[in-house]
Parts: sequence; C-alpha cells; structure tokens
Amino acid sequence: MPNAWKLLIIDDCATDRKIYRRFLLKDPHHYYQILEADSAEVGLGLYQNMPCDLILLDFCLPDMSGIEFLDKLRQKTFGSSVPVIMLTGRGDEEIAVQAMKKGVQDYLVKQHLKADILQLAVRNVIKQLYLQTQLQKNQERQRLIATMLLRIRQSLDLEEILYTAVREVQQLLKCDRVIVCQSSPETDSEQTDQNHSLLCYWAGSDDCNLKPLELLANKANLVVPINLSNQLELSKPWGFLIAHQCTGKREWQSDELEILCEVSIQLAIAIQQAELLTQTQVALEKEKQLNAFKSQIITTISHEYRTPLASILAAASTLKQYGEHLEELKKQKFLHIIEQKARHMSKLIDDMLVMNQFELNKTKFKTIPLDLEQFFSTLIIEQQLLVSDRHEFIFQSTGNHKGFWGDQGLLRLIFSNLMSNAIKYSPKGGNIEFYLIGKESEVIFFIQDQGIGIPIEDQTNLFQPFCRASNVDTLPGTGLGLAITKACVELHGGSITLDSQPDQGTKVTVCLPKQHIQKSSH
Ligand code: ATP
Ligand code: MG
Repeated sequence: MPNAWKLLIIDDCATDRKIYRRFLLKDPHHYYQILEADSAEVGLGLYQNMPCDLILLDFCLPDMSGIEFLDKLRQKTFGSSVPVIMLTGRGDEEIAVQAMKKGVQDYLVKQHLKADILQLAVRNVIKQLYLQTQLQKNQERQRLIATMLLRIRQSLDLEEILYTAVREVQQLLKCDRVIVCQSSPETDSEQTDQNHSLLCYWAGSDDCNLKPLELLANKANLVVPINLSNQLELSKPWGFLIAHQCTGKREWQSDELEILCEVSIQLAIAIQQAELLTQTQVALEKEKQLNAFKSQIITTISHEYRTPLASILAAASTLKQYGEHLEELKKQKFLHIIEQKARHMSKLIDDMLVMNQFELNKTKFKTIPLDLEQFFSTLIIEQQLLVSDRHEFIFQSTGNHKGFWGDQGLLRLIFSNLMSNAIKYSPKGGNIEFYLIGKESEVIFFIQDQGIGIPIEDQTNLFQPFCRASNVDTLPGTGLGLAITKACVELHGGSITLDSQPDQGTKVTVCLPKQHIQKSSH
C-alpha cells in the first residue's frame, strides 16, 4: 500500500473542508496529501489532472448534486473506479441508498462527524480498494501462470520445454532477459570455465553480454534453483532460473519471485518427465537391439553349427562303422576333424556368451597393475603354438609402460582376437609385426599383417557383431571377434582403429589409457 494517500475534498463550505483536513491530518496511522475543490467542476478538473486515491464528496454542491457529479466523473474518466465517500448535511436515507447505488463506498452525516469516524471510514475504503486491486492482480497473474504452465507442460521435449519457459516468463515479467542455466552434471559449477560449464536457454534482449556464471552471481538478478525431486539428496540443483534486468535498476517484487519459484517447480516436473521419456526410449531402443541380436544369434547358431556338426557326425559314424578296419593314420585324421570342429563350436558359444554379457552391460571389469611386456610375451608364446611356420611373429616394445592398469581377461580377449585375425587372414603367411609403445599416460599397440586386407567399402561395419568382409572366401569365422575387441577396448576407456588395403595387409591400432576410472552405469 502507498505510504501517503492522496485525497480530494470537494465541498463548497470552506469550514467543513478545514474540519475534514484537520481530522485526517490527525490520523496516527496514515499520512495524507490533501487537495481541495469548492465546486464540482473544479473537483473534476483537479481529478483529471492528478488522479487521487479517494474523493470526499459533499452531496450538495453549488453547480450540481453529488449524484450528478458521480455520473460526470465516470463519464470523463471512462468509468474510473476511484472510491468516493459521500457527505451530507442531513441524514437522509433515500440519498444514502441513491448514492450507494451509484457506487459510492461509504456515506457519512456531517452533523455526527468526528475525527475517528472519518479516519476509520477513509482507512476502510482505501484498504478495501487495495485488497480488491490485489485480488484482481492475483487472479490475472494466476490466469497467466496457468496458461504459461500449460504451455510449458505441453511438450515432452526438454529443449522445447526450456525455450517455452524462458519465453513465457520473460513476457510475463517484462524484464530484459530470462535464462535457464543447466549446471554441468560432472563438475562443480563454481570451479569450471564460464563458457563451457553450463547449458543455457534464454529469451529477451540480445544486448546482454553476461556469461551464465556472471548472471548467477549478479545480485541485481532474481535467481531461483531448479531442484529435481529425484536429486534432492544432492546438494547441487539441476540448474537455475534467472530473471535479469540490465537496462536501469529494477526493484523485484515478492510476487515476481513467487512466479519464478512456481515456474521452477513446474519446470522440475517437466524436466523429470522429459528425462523419463528419454530413458524409456533408450531402454526401448536397447531392447530392440537385444531382440535383433538374439535373433541373429539363433540364425548364426543354426547356420554355423550345421556344417561342423555334419562333419563331426560323418567322422564319428565312419569311425563307429569302419573303425576296426581303418588304418591308424586315417583314424587320427577323423579324430582330428572331430576335435577341431568341436573346438570351433565351443569358441563360437564362448564368443556369443561374451557378446551377450556386453549387450546386457553385465561384463565384469576389474583392473589390476600389469607388466605389459610379461603379458605379451606369454600371449605371443601361446599364439605361436597355433601358427604354421609360414608366419613369423615380430614383437617390439619401446617407451615407458609402467603404471598400466587393465583387466587381464579382457586384454587377453582383445589381443588374442587381433592376433588370430592377423594369422587367419594371411593364409599365405608372412610377418606379423606387433609394436608396443609406452607414452606418459597411455600405451599404443599396432598389429600389422601382410594378409588379404579388407575392401574399403566393408571397413566401416566390421566392429558390428556378425559383420564380415566380402573377401573372406572360405576362411572360417562368425564376425564376433572385432565386436568383442572393441567393447573390451571401450571398457578400458581406449580406442581402436583399422587401416587396410585389399591384398596389402591390415594394421590395427589400439590406444589404451594407463589408468581408466570407469563411470558407474546408472
Ligand atoms: P571370429 O568371430 O571367429 O573372430 P571373424 O574373424 O570373421 O570371426 P572378426 O574378428 O570380428 O570376425 O572380424 C570381422 C571381419 O573383419 C572378418 O570376417 C574379416 O573379414 C575382417 N578382418 C578382421 N581382421 C582382419 C585382418 N587382419 N585382415 C583381413 N580382414 C580382417
Ligand atoms: Mg576374428
């Protein structure tokens, strides 16, 4: 409510005007700024030039009656709702009813007028008016907020929600800018680079050059946190909603802060819903991939198992039927076929189980400090047992490999797959070179063969399960090795690339950080 109330007294009797003035100036609760008019015309003129909070109106004026004055006032001021208290010399009920019908707020009889009666009447009328105006403002605000919230909640797309929110709030508060800043989830906002740490959505003036963190720290702004209910235990809010005024000084009102708080609560709900939707969509997509993977497994099993099973069956039944008559060398040949095919099928099962664990995000990953030279020497000795004498393994190691942590089982999968590919896809033999280079914070491995190479058009998909190049001919394989290798490399926080030309060999490069802290998956 205003500190000093502006009052206009319209009465042709100077003594009465003096009395009212005296009574009002004695009011211990309020200050008054009082204007006086001795006729209706003068009163109208004064009001038009300087609207006031209340008019004290004598019923009998020299130039017109109080009722006529009221009609003129509404006409000239286009229905102004300034409150009026009517004063009359006589206590005539008819006049009172007439005046009340015309919309005056109170009716006082001059004869019985005392200071406290007048003060109370004026105070009540002005307070009533103030409350009415507040109520109207509140209703209007509630209506605007409801429309705005409806618009915000209409979308499930996070970006759209945030842009709608800043646009709507900026229009409602009529300030220079409204901004939603999302705190960087990984870092402490106070310590991060001002340009990159926060995502920002804003509406309003283009002239403001403040960066997100400056906006947050600026005391002249209204700032409210956006707290997601599922993150309440975390000290950091999801982000902030900021109203900013850079042109001139702005006194923010408490109801403006309330609007911002209300929007922040609704934004939190909308953000959570949008996040939930994204999570559901991701889960659905994952489910689809899993289903596709499972049907691929069934197809592969039936396809890949048929040939070796047929060979095993044929060899076994030959041995059963003619075993006694067969030479020892022939028997050994059949037994070798059975063993080889069974091994192949067993590897296939192992690979599919490993791949399935990756697809379900259930692979166990446990790093320990590893002596890489030792690790590779053992692995190469194992692999050399499988290689014919057409191949030669060359292993070179340079740099510093100290401080490397890795999961021994997964590293074995990576390098045994790469080595077995290098051997398998160079059927004519040749050198298989293996380099290990230790850097300050990572180790780099190259494996280079002189084999059949890979057609360029086949190279992009080879890390997908079941993908094989078109030039494999009769070389056996299921297309799972590289997919497993890539998944293992990624668990270590590393990368894998392939460089190959048909008939000119293939080079695979793996970079692994010396230590990798795995992020939790939830
Ligand atoms: P397996 O699951 O038994 O390893 P695979 O060797 O066919 O079967 P991947 O190791 O995933 O499967 O390799 C996928 C494909 O990439 C191979 O089928 C082959 O076409 C190609 N490839 C991989 N490594 C080489 C290489 N060193 N030289 C030529 N082609 C290669
Ligand atoms: Mg392979």
